[in-house]
Amino acid sequence: QTCFLPVLYALSLSTCVPNMHWEEIGEVDEDYAPIHTYQVCRVLEPNQNNWLHTGWTQTQGAQRVFIELKFTLRDCSSLPGGSGTCKETFNMYYYEKREMAGEARYAKIDTIAADESFTELDLGDRIMKLNTEVRDLGPLTRKGFYLAFQDLGACIALVSVRVFYKRCPLLVRSLARFPDTIPGSEASQLVEVVGRCVNNSLALDEAPRMHCSAEGEWLVPIGKCVCQPGFEEVNGTCQECGPGFYRSLLQAGGCSKCPPHSWARESGARVCSCEPAYYKNPADPANMACTRPPSAPRNAISNVNETSVFLEWSVPVETGGRKDVRYNILCRRVLPEGRGLEECGASVRFLPRRVGVANTSVMVADLQSHTNYSFLLDAVNGVSLMANDHARQYVTLNVTTNQAAPSPVSLVRRGASGRSSITVSWAEPDRPNGIILEYETKYFEKEQESSYTIIKSQLTEMVVEGLKPSSAYIFQVRARTSAGYGAFSRRFEFQTSPSCDYYFCITTQQHQLYMESFAGCCHPYRRCGYSKAKQDPEEEKMHFHNGLIKYPGLRTYIDPLTYEDPNQAVHEFAQEIDVSSISIERIIGAGEFGEVCSGPLRLPGKREFQVAIKTLKAGYSEQQRRDFLWEASIMGQFDHPNIIHLEGVITKSKPVMIITEYMENGSLDSFLKKNDGQFTVIQLVGMLRGIASGMRYLSEMGYVHRDLAARNILVNSNLVCKVSDFGLSRVLEDDPEAEYTTRGGKIPIRWTAPEAIAYRKFTSASDVWSYGIVMWEVMSYGERPYWEMSNQDVIKAVDESYRLPGPMDCPEALYLLMMDCWQRERSTRPKFDEIVGVLDKLIRNPSSLKKLVNSSHRVSNLLVEHASVEVDHTTLSQSVGDWLDSIKMGRYTELFMDGGFSSLETVAQMTSEDLRQVGVNLAGHQKKIITNIQEMRVHIINKTTVTI
Ligand code: AMP
Repeated sequence: QTCFLPVLYALSLSTCVPNMHWEEIGEVDEDYAPIHTYQVCRVLEPNQNNWLHTGWTQTQGAQRVFIELKFTLRDCSSLPGGSGTCKETFNMYYYEKREMAGEARYAKIDTIAADESFTELDLGDRIMKLNTEVRDLGPLTRKGFYLAFQDLGACIALVSVRVFYKRCPLLVRSLARFPDTIPGSEASQLVEVVGRCVNNSLALDEAPRMHCSAEGEWLVPIGKCVCQPGFEEVNGTCQECGPGFYRSLLQAGGCSKCPPHSWARESGARVCSCEPAYYKNPADPANMACTRPPSAPRNAISNVNETSVFLEWSVPVETGGRKDVRYNILCRRVLPEGRGLEECGASVRFLPRRVGVANTSVMVADLQSHTNYSFLLDAVNGVSLMANDHARQYVTLNVTTNQAAPSPVSLVRRGASGRSSITVSWAEPDRPNGIILEYETKYFEKEQESSYTIIKSQLTEMVVEGLKPSSAYIFQVRARTSAGYGAFSRRFEFQTSPSCDYYFCITTQQHQLYMESFAGCCHPYRRCGYSKAKQDPEEEKMHFHNGLIKYPGLRTYIDPLTYEDPNQAVHEFAQEIDVSSISIERIIGAGEFGEVCSGPLRLPGKREFQVAIKTLKAGYSEQQRRDFLWEASIMGQFDHPNIIHLEGVITKSKPVMIITEYMENGSLDSFLKKNDGQFTVIQLVGMLRGIASGMRYLSEMGYVHRDLAARNILVNSNLVCKVSDFGLSRVLEDDPEAEYTTRGGKIPIRWTAPEAIAYRKFTSASDVWSYGIVMWEVMSYGERPYWEMSNQDVIKAVDESYRLPGPMDCPEALYLLMMDCWQRERSTRPKFDEIVGVLDKLIRNPSSLKKLVNSSHRVSNLLVEHASVEVDHTTLSQSVGDWLDSIKMGRYTELFMDGGFSSLETVAQMTSEDLRQVGVNLAGHQKKIITNIQEMRVHIINKTTVTI
């Protein structure tokens, strides 16, 4: 490396001052420049001591100098006659002081011998054998020195004496400038030099350093400089970055082009500025593109499970160019009567968390039951905080929590106890989750659990009687709301008092302590027994043995027909309500026997709540009155969150009324038609699960419904579905769908299993068939089963093993379940218990609902009879405009034409994607058109495959 090569600096050597015998010979070199040569040759005379002195030579700061001698030397042996005094060396001396001094003060540098000496012969041939010898001299401490050459009798010609020193030359390395430097005095010494960073650069970590060696070489570089931000290194200098380029401090290499969505208008940019609406997080590396906040999460859905809500969404379309998208959830409770929103308190739990959720779902738990909530779902990323708030896009999810069973009663206390009775009391559960309708107290003698008694009551205190003296009893209490029973409390053990005989009491009457331990014991001066606690007039007691009720109770359905007096049946199962407790506010429907109204019910000791009131119109016959109340006798036996709950009857005044819980959304079929396409699959499955659960309860009670259909399911404001319309044959008489069969009964053909139509074999298995039809109704949003096929055609088609096709967008798992319900062989149909299990599994694992019934599946199950009857051969010759008009979508005619869908044949091939491309953007309209296209395809298929 040339830069490390030493540069030699010659010192000017003044003309020598010869003393005796050294001769100066002036000559010229090839270029006629004068040169001085000094020679001496006194080889034949002994005791020579001839000195040649140089003038004063300045060191120029060098502490170590080099002396290069060029000379010739005569070979002594070549002298004629030889000479005992002839020498072949000479000495070199130096003296450091300015004032001249005698030779004795000079210090010897070295004795110089020739590598090559010459002979007479060489002289004859004029061959000059020139020697070059270099010696170094140091350390020098003065500003200059003298040199001297001592001849002791040799034949020498000193042709040149060159004195020089070495320097480390100015060097720019790693953007640091190291000045021209004179090495140290010692041969092995390194002089450390600190470099200066060049303009617009700065030292990184430590000052740059180099070491100058005695040989004038730069060695051991340490540290370096780098160009300041906004500058880049060009040929050892730092130059400004041009416009559109930037360089940050730690960035290696040169200036870089501004990353996407950023720019640098001026030169010398350290960072690039973001384009409007794009941002940089301080932690983002300089070379990262400017990014922006994400768009709103997509496809957000909520799935309410009692008082928990599972929120799920898809990642936003626009992640803003970042990978750090997180989600925040703001939970707000909707205050009643339009009083606005209130943030949910700390008691609401978010799993895994409320803010900074990395996944696309969150579980919100411990909400209040039957309460409207509004969730704001917001996607954020590393630059959301930098963006204006208005740039953030939220998704709102409004949900209503469902019923939730009350939390367990936490503490049961013992009040007074006697020999045969114990008073127990408890507090309302911490979270009643609704109005507590009643409590159930279960008790049994300790270790006799197989035989227990249950008492229902409405107060939080009761006296349990008929117990054995000196016995331990276990008590458990649970509460019931319209959502069902909560869990039982833990077990509490209480003891009855010992039986004591009269004598024992008398003799110990003085011993107060003793007495107290037998509190409640029969005492001659006190009344026997216990002080009677508040007794609940509505208490109802049932005894169980090995799980079976010991006397007729409410656990199995009792046919009201078994009662001779139907009035007795009504009052056995239904509570008589005082007419003053009720006010009729609105008419909500029309029943077979009269209007159905709604209004508040105020029962003593209970909060007022809305109920439905079925009335029996004036002028009824005794038979009609009996038929009307029949339903109450059945309904009153049921107690399940998915069975319409009977509050009571009013029979002691007119009009006669049946009071049931109020179902805000009315009957399921009209509710679905009204809200076509509005629910998530999970919500629909949730409704179906409720119905199945109610039916499981009925089947366990031994009750066969016979008229299970969406029109006989009621829906409340929380989308809870409840089975209603009880009354056996009475209901069928009442049902406009029911038709007389050849055997005389009236049957809703489309909903009824073949064996029930054929020979009136109504069982829970035939209810399962009907349940399958209800599933189909629900999944097709209230479509009429078998459309407009005649009842006769339906019977025939079903008999020939044709079944309803899977509804549009119906998950395959649900369609398979429906098909199972429609097994010809009734014993192979699933039980309601299994249906609930399957639906629960699907709800727990919603991805199992993703696979939809495919169209080939749909077609293979088509009801040919229905379709061939329906084929309107003129349909396909209709214009697209007429067809769209007929389905009330005429507004899209022009878009269809523009999109090239100008014949019904082409329309029949359209997919949802085509619809979107054409410009049908409303999901509801897309669905409507697609449904009609599907039907049109059915027509086309049946036209071409009439032989199916
Ligand atoms: P029903 O005679 O039971 O078929 O009732 C006739 C109509 O009244 C039903 O279709 C419902 O629209 C309405 N209805 C009946 N019971 C209730 C109820 N408990 N809550 C709300 N609406 C009801």
